[in-house]
Amino acid sequence: MNAPAPRAGILDIKAYVPGRSSVTDSQGRRVIKLSSNESALGPSPRAVEAAQEAAAGVVRYPDGSALDLREAIARRWDLDPERIVCSNGSDEILQLLPRIYAGPGDEVLYSQYGFAIYPIAALAAGAAPVTAPERAFRVDVEAMLAAVTNRTKLVFLANPNNPTGSVIPASDVARLRAGLPDHVLLVIDSAYAEFVTRDDYRAGAELVHDSTNTVMTRTFSKVYSLAGLRVGWMYGPPAVVDAFHRVRGPFNVNAVGQAAATAALDDSDHLQRAIEHNDRWLPELTRRLKAIGLDVPESVVNFVLARFPGGPSQAAAAERFLASQAILVRDLGAYGIPDGLRINIGLDDEMETLIDGLTRFMDET
Ligand SMILES: *Cc1c(COP(=O)(O)O)cnc(C)c1O
Repeated sequence: MNAPAPRAGILDIKAYVPGRSSVTDSQGRRVIKLSSNESALGPSPRAVEAAQEAAAGVVRYPDGSALDLREAIARRWDLDPERIVCSNGSDEILQLLPRIYAGPGDEVLYSQYGFAIYPIAALAAGAAPVTAPERAFRVDVEAMLAAVTNRTKLVFLANPNNPTGSVIPASDVARLRAGLPDHVLLVIDSAYAEFVTRDDYRAGAELVHDSTNTVMTRTFSKVYSLAGLRVGWMYGPPAVVDAFHRVRGPFNVNAVGQAAATAALDDSDHLQRAIEHNDRWLPELTRRLKAIGLDVPESVVNFVLARFPGGPSQAAAAERFLASQAILVRDLGAYGIPDGLRINIGLDDEMETLIDGLTRFMDET
């Protein structure tokens, strides 16, 4: 028997393991889900209403160019709609760009604790994933540049990064771009941009605007809480946009997602509430986790990395303990941070329950 064989690289992929998605646990209890970084407040009611209306029209194919949504995005961020491409989650963009710009013999570079999709996307393209060390859980631009070889074709930068929650200032991103060869595509993954309130941060549009070799990706999955509808977008140079359109699915963004995302952009009050909720809890959660002995690197987003002084076995025990209390958090063994758990910011009572639980756990171990 001569069975079909996947291309080189495919079987090197370790399939992405998502945060658990069920809302009840094995005992049927409602869980507090702090494992996948969705926003605490959930989507705008206007977005949900638009989704329900659009659901009545699903007999028709969606608008393959997502024109209304692109125009709404362009108005919101003052961008050229022709240079925006919408996608089936930003994941679709992160997956396709390596297939367009890299292949066998090429390298795709990202930082040590970079988002788990990057190695998958590189290997699926037939390219080799390469990592550069981070310093104190932050991207180190010099180390990234030192890892560039003449095979490097694409560099992923998650800014802020998941799962560390750390960010680098716009000046560092500009230095990274300036240090990369012109033919290397820099993909700035700004999935958490809306949560960042620091003055020295930029999501990347300015850098894209005058370049031929830099793109910014964004998503409706995080602060807008539309993860289940799978809507993302990128802003890029015309030639990159043109290449992407040739490869993407012709109807990559479903009609319900287009309608909901367009409506979500109209509800700036809801967005503001989500950001304010996060601004209130981020320092509070960080302070209270540190007070019970955990190491929490500075985060600028809606989740924190909590590292356990007792190492990997204590982190694993904490995850099991929290699960026994119907609280789900994300273990980071697959990211090479086995002594850490990623915990996202939930509602007020969810945060109090989490902190109470972890306090009891730390007292008892
Ligand atoms: C969640 C996340 C994404 C977005 O994924 P979608 O496919 O848009 O849901 C992209 N990059 C990072 C770093 C993320 O954490």
